[in-house]
Amino acid sequence: MTTTTGTAPETRSFEADVARLLHMMVHSVYSDKDVFLRELISNAADACEKLRYELLSNPALAADGDGQPRITVTLDPDARQITLEDNGIGMSEVEMAEALGTIARSGTRAFMERVTAAQEGEGAQLIGQFGVGFYSAFMVADRVDVFSRRAGAETAAHWASDGLGSYTIQLADTAQAPARGTRIILHLKEDAASYTEPFTTRRIITAQSGHVPVPIFLKERPDAEEKQIADGAALWTRPRSEITAEEYTDFYRSTAGQFDEPALTLHYRAEGLHEYSVLAFLPSMRPFDLFDPDRAGRMKLYVRRVFITDEAQILPRYLRFVRGLVDSNDLPLNVSREMIQESPVLAAIQKGVANRILSELDKLAEKDRDAYLKFWENFGPVLKEGLYEDHARRETLLGLARFKSTAGGENWRSLKDYVEAIRDNQTAIYYATGTDLDRLAASPQLEGFRARGIEVLLLADQVDSFWVTAGADYQGKPFKSVTQGLADLGLIPLADGEAPAAQASEEVSGFIAYVKSVLGEQVSDVRASERLTESAVCLVAPDNAMDRQLEKLLAGAGRLDQTAKPVLEINPRHDLIARLGTLAEGDSLREDAAYLLLDEARIADGELPADPRAFSARLARMIGGAIK
Ligand code: ADP
Ligand code: MG
Repeated sequence: MTTTTGTAPETRSFEADVARLLHMMVHSVYSDKDVFLRELISNAADACEKLRYELLSNPALAADGDGQPRITVTLDPDARQITLEDNGIGMSEVEMAEALGTIARSGTRAFMERVTAAQEGEGAQLIGQFGVGFYSAFMVADRVDVFSRRAGAETAAHWASDGLGSYTIQLADTAQAPARGTRIILHLKEDAASYTEPFTTRRIITAQSGHVPVPIFLKERPDAEEKQIADGAALWTRPRSEITAEEYTDFYRSTAGQFDEPALTLHYRAEGLHEYSVLAFLPSMRPFDLFDPDRAGRMKLYVRRVFITDEAQILPRYLRFVRGLVDSNDLPLNVSREMIQESPVLAAIQKGVANRILSELDKLAEKDRDAYLKFWENFGPVLKEGLYEDHARRETLLGLARFKSTAGGENWRSLKDYVEAIRDNQTAIYYATGTDLDRLAASPQLEGFRARGIEVLLLADQVDSFWVTAGADYQGKPFKSVTQGLADLGLIPLADGEAPAAQASEEVSGFIAYVKSVLGEQVSDVRASERLTESAVCLVAPDNAMDRQLEKLLAGAGRLDQTAKPVLEINPRHDLIARLGTLAEGDSLREDAAYLLLDEARIADGELPADPRAFSARLARMIGGAIK
């Protein structure tokens, strides 16, 4: 990219993704276009807060404009224009090209991916649910001019676009730009003329953005006197009793980039050794960046009402869905963003806020079960990351966790429920991991547990394979996979009062030994099963080996070059096995049967036969034999 030297405009193309996003904006049928005001005002407020922060280390920057941060909205019905102006940090020409020509922020990128994955026509609805930033201006405008002057800069820059694929950028006369900050002029489309009506626009702004921490002024006409329509007071400094639910929601929406109702609002002041205020929200919808690889949280850090950073990672990563802010009284204002991470004050805040959020979740679970389960459905898979990342809070997190299980059907179960229903002599909490709940529930490995009324947790989230193997236990009971090692079910009687089946007959034992000799190196063992009641065979992991599901996951991700050979378990009580036991030693059927049993077990686990061609040949011989 080259920089403009003269004042001739240079035309550049938008990054491909921006062009696609703009196309959607321009052609959106989306009726609630009002969100463009929230987006532009939130950018203006961000710019003012960034300046406030830079002023801490460079007070000279204040010299080039008036001191009090402010946002001014000017309506011009005759020209069908709205102008938004702020005296914030501003943008240089280079920053402009970067910020307004590419998709810089990950939220927007995630949005685009979602739109790409959505069905034709659904994209427009998604715009309504999520913030799409600056480009939302093109929902209402067919041309946008941005004049900006970076704090401390000698020059101003001008960006302009009709939103159709390219934009121009050039140096501007400093008289055209604010002395410091950004002026955005929207040339409204005909059908968006109503945004120049003072009543309409004032109502939208106060409803959507009434609590941004920068005062907002409205000029009803270019020559009219300006009126303050929002005072810029920090909502979190007001007493809770004076704040309405709507005010909290508006604040959440205008600062968190979320468009839903908060599922839980937490507002309190910590006093004592450290003083800080917390205003935190649990979203009721999953934020788009929830599964971004950087797993970054968005809690904002303020020091005495000055915004410092939203990268302080105030909460552990498994609480990254929480939105809101912490305002500290104790951190020094001149602390650099880099130094903050080292600060013991921040460490105390991090600890306090995380504990408080978990205890609020616990209360919610007690008080409002349905609301809690909704939360769990959205964020349970994220919270479970804490089970292996945060050993100190594991017990608490296990208490918060909810599971699908063989006993619960559609319902969620807690570990407390599990332990209350535990069978006599049962020493472990059993689980099965997989990727699909229905398939899991049908696994042959569960049969013996079902027959004994032993509850098995069905774990279908990716993260499950990791925490269950991290050595957790709950109330002294270890977690144990139903597909790993010996089932040890002998001591627990069958649920319907039947005594456990007798030892395998000699013939069956002989057949099992034969299968083992035929399969040789393909398996690590072949043995009679305690866990099967209906199926003939299944595969399990050897004692002390990795759970089979975790192994598959790691192998699939290329993080494992050797996998353990499974154990083939054979149900000695199964009719088929009993009959195979009676075959004469020389019968050629025996060998085919041995291989087919292994393949049957593999298929039940969702795998392919080891050698599909040999499998088909054996199957054909079997069927042929049956017809004869
Ligand atoms: P986001 O606000 O999430 O970063 P936007 O699309 O709303 O995404 O804005 C993109 C970028 O444009 C901002 O990050 C900022 O760098 C720049 N920007 C937009 N409006 C302004 C403004 N009024 N003052 C300074 N910079 C701005
Ligand atoms: Mg923005």
